[in-house]
Amino acid sequence: MSEASDSTAARKPVRRVVIAGGGTAGWMAAAALSRTLGKVLDITLVESDAIGTVGVGEATIPTLVTFHRLLNINEQAFMAATHATIKLGIAFEGWRDVSKDYIHSFGLTGKDHWTAGFQHFWLKGRERGLARDYGDYCMELRAAQERKFAHLPDNGINYAFHLDATQYARFLRRFSEEFGVQREEGRIAEVRMADNGDIAALAMEDGRLIEGDLFIDCTGFRALLIGQALGVPFEDWSQWLFADSALAVQTDSVRDAIPYTRSIAGDAGWQWRIPLQHRCGNGIVFSSRYTDADAARETLMGSIEGAPRTEPRLIRFKPGQRAKAWERNCVALGLSSGFLEPLESTNIHLIQRGITRLLQSFPHVIEQVDIDEYNRQVENEITHIRDFVILHYKVTDRRDTPFWRDCAAMDIPDTLRHRIELFAETGRVFRVPNELFAENSWIQVMLGQGIVPRQRHPAPDMMGDEELQHFLEGIRQRVENTVRRLPAHMDYIRSYCPMQ
Ligand code: FAD
Repeated sequence: MSEASDSTAARKPVRRVVIAGGGTAGWMAAAALSRTLGKVLDITLVESDAIGTVGVGEATIPTLVTFHRLLNINEQAFMAATHATIKLGIAFEGWRDVSKDYIHSFGLTGKDHWTAGFQHFWLKGRERGLARDYGDYCMELRAAQERKFAHLPDNGINYAFHLDATQYARFLRRFSEEFGVQREEGRIAEVRMADNGDIAALAMEDGRLIEGDLFIDCTGFRALLIGQALGVPFEDWSQWLFADSALAVQTDSVRDAIPYTRSIAGDAGWQWRIPLQHRCGNGIVFSSRYTDADAARETLMGSIEGAPRTEPRLIRFKPGQRAKAWERNCVALGLSSGFLEPLESTNIHLIQRGITRLLQSFPHVIEQVDIDEYNRQVENEITHIRDFVILHYKVTDRRDTPFWRDCAAMDIPDTLRHRIELFAETGRVFRVPNELFAENSWIQVMLGQGIVPRQRHPAPDMMGDEELQHFLEGIRQRVENTVRRLPAHMDYIRSYCPMQ
């Protein structure tokens, strides 16, 4: 009999769930589990005020709106409590080349035909001098540029949030405690193992013993359970993603918040600007192979606007992924399961996906087949997100520093190489099933980074110039008419969810 079925035989039905860690991952897991299965589970969350949380992670993507809807979280209450603003996309400044910018927005661009995406019609329009900027055909992108926002009927606008990470954890804690989650404060001193190799309990520094059937590791980069106790190895991706450090600092706001994140490329990495209602989150992500923390600190502090509210905080990380996110009776969520630099704000999304996946395969008794399926899905999902992030570094005209020259010269995963070649040659992109980033995102970023497809689909040749112009202009004018009627972003926020 295999080791897996031996340990399965020894397992009891899952009744007691222990969440180790109370950062964004821990409290999101607590909120979702208690809201959906709270009546049939005993859920305990352990966190240490002395250790604290990573305290960054403030830009999100639209899937968080769905997460809140599933949990029945009131959006106005959430936004007021977390001082949130709206995010319609990310401005990539200086990524294609030192002074070339573009926006990756959350919206759809133009209108696809079932045989050929809108980009093919736009490419023909461009050949004939009939098309404007690709972004002019996307409502969310134009709204971001005009700094406007309002909810539209029938979920007619795609948006996400910028939020205060510390307040978000507090908000979810209140929510989770209402649904019965028990919070234990203190430091975990030891992870106790059962005879079958599963985790049996968390032994606290003060002697308390917190036993469970299923453990969720949300202990951040420490990975106390999945890494230290269970020894699941970490797959390192630093051959593709050179950044391994960040400095974060909060500043006072100096102007109304804009509805998009700024990602500003620098000599050996990039800086983020995340505007909240009351302050701005700033940071620099860099590679210690190409610069040091002192130089990065100087660059960051020399470019921030507004008085600093905090000291710049150095965070070291390793890009990559835990070989298995679920091992035995432990599921890792958040930083303990892996880390992709926050270029496309995907980490909170991955926490949410992990939670959804866990809920969908929530075990009566833990079976190896559930574990294998979960891990297979995680790996499939993360591969494409990883590729999407690498794309920004690989496809660039920048050659101004050793960092950028090495990025352009690096070998990339075959999956990404194929996508780039296909688009560069034919203008085509195909979304892989269950992939996070859809065609629209890949196209915006590939065009934004400077790839112009050599060929295009023949479908637009069915249209004469006049018809094509009418088609393109019709879309563009509908976008403009909608954007013109939207209020200024912060005027809308001030009336929709004034800060508490
Ligand atoms: P943490 O916040 O580190 O929480 C760990 C928890 O474990 C804490 O409660 C701690 O007290 C507890 N703990 C640890 N050890 C013990 C112990 N021995 N005993 C008891 N408790 C313990 N994500 C995005 O989606 N968007 C972004 O814009 C973004 N920006 C980022 C920028 C940077 C520089 C970094 C590093 C990350 C960023 N992320 C971003 C990722 C995001 O911050 C994390 O995914 C998210 O905060 C989840 O963190 P966590 O809960 O896993 O870990």
